[in-house]
This record gives sequence, C-alpha cells and structure tokens, in this order.
Amino acid sequence: EQTEAGAYIDRVYQQMVERNPGEDEFHQAVREIFDALEPVFEAYPMYRKENILERMVEPERMITFRVPWVDDEGSVHINRGFRVQFNSALGPYKGGTRFHPSVNAGTIKFLGFEQILKNALTEQPIGGGKGGADFDPKGKSDAEIMRFCQSFMNELHRYIGPDTDIPAGDIGVGPKEIGYMFGEYKKLRGRFESGAFTGKAIEHGGILGRTEATGYGAVYFMKEMLKDHGQSFENQTVVVSGAGNVSIHAMEKAAELGAHVVACSDSRGYIYDKNGINIETVREVKQRQGNSLSAYTSYHPDAEHHDNPSAIWQTACDIALPCATQNEINEEAAKTLTANNVKAVGEGANMPSTLQAIRTFQEAGVLFAPAKAVNAGGVAVSALEMAQNSSRLAWTFQEVDDKLQDIMKTIYQNSTQAAQSYGRSGDLASGANIAGFVKTADAMIKQGI
Ligand code: GLU
Repeated sequence: EQTEAGAYIDRVYQQMVERNPGEDEFHQAVREIFDALEPVFEAYPMYRKENILERMVEPERMITFRVPWVDDEGSVHINRGFRVQFNSALGPYKGGTRFHPSVNAGTIKFLGFEQILKNALTEQPIGGGKGGADFDPKGKSDAEIMRFCQSFMNELHRYIGPDTDIPAGDIGVGPKEIGYMFGEYKKLRGRFESGAFTGKAIEHGGILGRTEATGYGAVYFMKEMLKDHGQSFENQTVVVSGAGNVSIHAMEKAAELGAHVVACSDSRGYIYDKNGINIETVREVKQRQGNSLSAYTSYHPDAEHHDNPSAIWQTACDIALPCATQNEINEEAAKTLTANNVKAVGEGANMPSTLQAIRTFQEAGVLFAPAKAVNAGGVAVSALEMAQNSSRLAWTFQEVDDKLQDIMKTIYQNSTQAAQSYGRSGDLASGANIAGFVKTADAMIKQGI
C-alpha cells in the first residue's frame, strides 16, 4: 500500500510531467531522484508541508534565445540557445554549457536538475544551472565557432556574472569556446570579471587541474568505492565509453592505478585494443587531428575498430565507466554487461544509464555509482577556480588534485551514510540523491518562500 509520502511524490511527478510535455529526459532525471526520496519524506513530513518538491522541479528561471551567426560562405544560420537558472539555494547558479544538435529545453532541464544535487554534494557554495545550444561544432571552422560563441554571449551576457550565474564547458564546449565567450563578455561588460566563467585557459584565470578533474575525480570516486569492498583498479579490465575530455582523463588515471583499459568510443564507433588503449594516440587522433577514432588502428594495427559505438558494452570488463552521453546504456546493454560479470559501473557522463539499466545493475548486485556523485569532480574544481579568481591567488596542480581527492572521498562517504540512515544501505544512487536533496531543501526552507 502506498504511503502518504509516496502519494505526494507521485502527485508532484505527474504534475511535473503535465507541465513539461515531451521533455522525456527531464522526466527521467526527476523520476530517478524522486524514487530515492520516499524514506526522507516519511521521516520528515515537514518537507511535504513546505511542498518542497514542487518548488524544486520548477526552475527559478529558464531563458531561451535566438543565436544568429554567419558561416564562412556568408550564409546566415539560426540556432536556439538556453540557460536554465534552476536553483540558487546554495549559491549562484553554476553549471556547464553544451553545444550539440540534440540539445533542447528538456535536455537543459534534465542537466540543470541533476546539477542542483551534484553541486550540493560537492559541499561548495554553488547552486544549479545549465545552458547550451542545438549548435553542432563538428566540422565548423575556428572562425565559425568564434562567431557562434560571440553571438551566444551577445544575448546571455545580461543574465550571468561572478555572483549570479557562472557557465562552464560540457559536451562541445572546452577552454577554446569558453575563451571566445569570455572575450565577448569582457567587451560587453567593460570589466575583466574572470570569475564569470570556469574552465578557462590558464592564461586568463583558469585553474590547474580543471581539465583533468572530471575524469580523475570519477576514478578517485570509484577507487574509494572499490576499496570499501576490498577491491581496487589493479589488474582490472576497464571499458570507458567516449573519447572526449572526461573519458581521456578517466582512462589515464585508471591506467595509472594499474587497470587494463581495453576499449573507448566516439560517436562513430569504438576501438578495442587488447594491449591496452594508448591514450596518447587517442589524444593525437581526437584532439590534435580531430579525426574519427578509426584512425587509431593505423597506429596500432592489433586494435579493432567497430562501427556501432553502443556495441562497446559487449566488451567483457570488470569495471565499466560510461563517459560519453545520456542513456548510452539501455537495459539490453546492462544485461550484457552483467552477463559478462561486470563488478562495478561508474557514471562519468550525465545520466548515461536508463532507469531500467540502473535497476538491472542493482538487481544483479553490481556496484553502481551514480553520475551526480561520480562526475562531480569537474564542477567541484570549477568552484575552486571561482575561489581562486575571487582571491586573485593560484594553487599548484598538486594542491588542486589533493583537494579533488578529498572532495571525492567526502562525496563517497556522505552518499554511503545517507543511504544507510534512510534504510537503503549500499544503494549509492539513493544515497547521493538523498544527501544532495536534504542539503538543498534545508537551505531553501531557511530562506523562506
Ligand atoms: N559540465 C560539467 C558538469 O556536468 C561541469 C560544470 C561546471 O564546471 O560548472 O557538471
């Protein structure tokens, strides 16, 4: 029979679905979080009286805007830009910017909603936000990307700032794009506000270790989890999807800890290298040449390239780190992984597993580590970058990396403890949701309606 808490949660969920028609990814992210919260609402009816869930799923502000730009041939293109300023209970809105053709309002809301709880888990003073555009940077010239970033900023500049909303990168946006956006923002403001963006290049206020932070942080988190279960990365076979910034640094750190990383992927396929993925070659092929991963096999003829990127999950492994994109592991892929005896899954990307995939892992007793905990190292170091910009001081790489390791340990401990306190021992997905939720909800309630 349904509890009062459960009925309240379901009612708010239904209403949210009706208010946000067609935004499937947003619905999915909310469902996943809400499922963890029933024991919290049972223990504290105060949250229901405050109607905290309905308040939380409605963004404080959602900005949608036109982004016109001119390509190298002189043709005019229009894209749609977004920024969701979801929740400012814990600090100014903070979150990345995604440039990808799949971006729509629902994508930005799912990412923004996840970001609230993720940022809370880092224990840094940052609220939740996210932005992006349905622009495809693939195949665009540098000049086209620069003009797009400038146009994007021409509209967005009026809504952001170091104490208001601080964008960073995400899929399709790295230090180069952040630099173009910052340059335009600086002109429009007439001030050098380095703290208005994170993920900047070192030359203009970036922090050492931000580039590595998400991937390294993911591995630090998994190391903690494995240690708790008497295991480690040593001699484990690891599969890491993606070949972008998160994936490359996760592979690098896992290999450094003694793992055997055998496969990675891009949007066009995946590579399997039984000798261990050569990360320098992936960097060369993807980052310096901007080629498809298939070029890897011309450097390492023993490696295999397969055309279907999602078939990467057919590769037998002890540890799977999905670091590509949302819903890249469906139920079928999860079943294949468990049938191949995967021991642990750590989500480096945002929401890479479907709800059914998560259930499959949990029912099979696989150690499952959820995105908002695993990949929080990126935004955590972004918060350190903000602190550095405010203080006008700079840390060394080692200092940042030490802080990152401490933060990832704390996130692991807090999530584990929250799961334990609410009768969900060992369920880190619930623990991370509960820990992030309680912190945000309490701050919202203290600040009144
Ligand atoms: N885009 C990253 C994320 O999903 C980083 C955001 C940031 O550094 O603000 O958390």
